[in-house]
Amino acid sequence: MPDLSPAPDTLTVLNPATEEVVATVPAASAADADAAVVRAERAQRGWARLAAADRARLLRRFAAAVDAHREELARLEVREAGHPVADARWEAGNVRDLLEYAAGGAERLSGRQIPVPGGLDVTFHEPLGVVAVIAPWNFPMPIAAWGTAPALAAGNAVVLKPAETTPLTALRLAGLALDAGLPEGVFQVLPGHGPVAGRALVDHPRVAKVVFTGSTATGKEIMARCAAGVKRVTLELGGKSPNIVFADADVERAARAAPASFLDNAGQDCCARSRILVQRSVYDRFMELLEPAVTSWAVGDPSDPATRMGPLISAAQRERVRSYVPEDAPAAIRGSAPAGRGYWYPPTVVEAAGPGDRVAAEEIFGPVAAVLPFEDEADAVRLANATDYGLSGSVWTRDVGRALRVTRAVAAGNLSVNSHSSVRYWTPFGGYKQSGLGRELGPDALAAFTETKNVFISTEET
Ligand code: NAD
Repeated sequence: MPDLSPAPDTLTVLNPATEEVVATVPAASAADADAAVVRAERAQRGWARLAAADRARLLRRFAAAVDAHREELARLEVREAGHPVADARWEAGNVRDLLEYAAGGAERLSGRQIPVPGGLDVTFHEPLGVVAVIAPWNFPMPIAAWGTAPALAAGNAVVLKPAETTPLTALRLAGLALDAGLPEGVFQVLPGHGPVAGRALVDHPRVAKVVFTGSTATGKEIMARCAAGVKRVTLELGGKSPNIVFADADVERAARAAPASFLDNAGQDCCARSRILVQRSVYDRFMELLEPAVTSWAVGDPSDPATRMGPLISAAQRERVRSYVPEDAPAAIRGSAPAGRGYWYPPTVVEAAGPGDRVAAEEIFGPVAAVLPFEDEADAVRLANATDYGLSGSVWTRDVGRALRVTRAVAAGNLSVNSHSSVRYWTPFGGYKQSGLGRELGPDALAAFTETKNVFISTEET
């Protein structure tokens, strides 16, 4: 067994598929975080003064550097996070796309001219200053880029703190940014422990905004600490999203599509459709169809392009999943996973006793879905909304009216019909209720990293 209790000033990165040590990375202290913010503040002034076209050009060069190193980044993500290589390639490509999209945003960040009597009134979108992005381990590259790309495009400097278990791709991205010509200090990566480096960034008086993605408990703490300085905050937190299958749907298609919605990234996905709500009249049929789709899911070596699911991120995460459903507990459907080293856990579907059942109510963050029957549309909406979370959800139906009624009635930020899509860089993403605060991505992403300044110029002669 590798030594899992490293010195507190070090992060040990383990390969979750083999438990081998991939790297040891120094963990930033509070003083390191302070120094990074000071550097960022200095660099930000020059960055904000650049013409938008020049900032955009540098971000496009950064995107090109990411594209040129896509395979290297993907292979690094396979090793530090256990992501299947096909997924990791997509994730590196997503960083490139986010940077390109944000670069275009920099060039279109125009204010307004508002008709007022006695003069000219114009608005400007000004950068906030230094933005801290605190990222989780589940999608280390894309989630880091969701905050970083638009913040940089809008003229801010970014200090990114990756999760303890996954600092390597973030560090590589910082290197690529420098190679691409981004000025030193504009984008820094600060690996470290959440309660040390993360907290130091959150509390730092020169940090203007915190973008946090992670657990709801940590998000609440960060929001409370940000209140002290009226610091801006965006929170992307947990979820327990419903997949609602009506009897009038293409039930075969719905069953075929369901596994990806809770098995992608081994279920360590804030948008996982981990509550499957099925209309009672098609419940048995759906379960029959779901079984082969789940048991045939390819779980194994993440470096094999045919693999669809790798291991969980860590031993601790597997213990957490086991605390909900031990591997030897009865389950409606159970797939297979490799034995031996690595944090493996098989795809699992359980029939929940009711909506209050722990497996149906709490975010497990593993490859486990809870299935519940419902009677009619009103019952489906009631069950879907019986949660403090509100991130995503899917509705399977052939009735357009029902699709619209139900998507409007479910209190969540990202709904899809006959699909499980949640995250696209072109469209806004974020949670209702305790799933978050604010929106990322989409055409307005840059606005969240600016203050609107209004300037009135009198045209009166005297
Ligand atoms: P976490 O809250 O433990 O950690 C997330 C990040 O916050 C890490 O970088 C960690 O070091 C840092 N952190 C921890 N304590 C901190 C503190 N006191 N001050 C400042 N920073 C601190 O979450 P996790 O376990 O890494 O991630 C899993 C969770 O993230 C799940 O609950 C999941 O639903 C959520 N998540 C949400 C989204 C979304 O977009 N809504 C996306 C991915 C993950």
